[in-house]
Amino acid sequence: MPTKVFYVSTSSQTEFISITSPIRKFVRESGIKEGICVIYVPHTTAAVFINEGADPDVVRDIAYKLSQLIEWDDPNYRHAEGNSAAHIKSSIIGNSRIVPIVDGELALGTWEAIFLAEFDGPRRRKVIVTLLGE
Ligand code: ZN
Repeated sequence: MPTKVFYVSTSSQTEFISITSPIRKFVRESGIKEGICVIYVPHTTAAVFINEGADPDVVRDIAYKLSQLIEWDDPNYRHAEGNSAAHIKSSIIGNSRIVPIVDGELALGTWEAIFLAEFDGPRRRKVIVTLLGE
C-alpha cells in the first residue's frame, strides 16, 4: 500500500500549518476509491489535528488557548530540555489522524483541514501518510 513522506518547515515556536492540499493530491493520484488515509507525525513536540481551515482565527484561537492552559514556564517542570509544554501539547492533541477515503477523495467536511501542529519550532517536520484501500 502506498506510503508517502512529506516534510514541513515551520517558522515559529507555535504554528499550525495546513497539509491538506498535498495529502488530497496524494489520495487522488493513488487511484484508491474506498479506504482510509492515516496521517502520522513521528515527533514528540509536534502533532496533527483536523479542524476548520476556512477562518484562520479558529486555529489562532486554539493555539492561544492551549498556550494559556499549558504554560511554557512552570517551576515544577523537570524535563531538562526545557520544552515540557511542547511535549504536553503534543500528547494531548496526538500524533495521528485517520480520514476515510470515499469515491477517491478524502471525506473531509466542507470547512475541515488537516493541520501539522508545531509546538517547539522552528524545525523541519516529517509527516508520514499511508493509504489503505482499493
Ligand atoms: Zn524535550
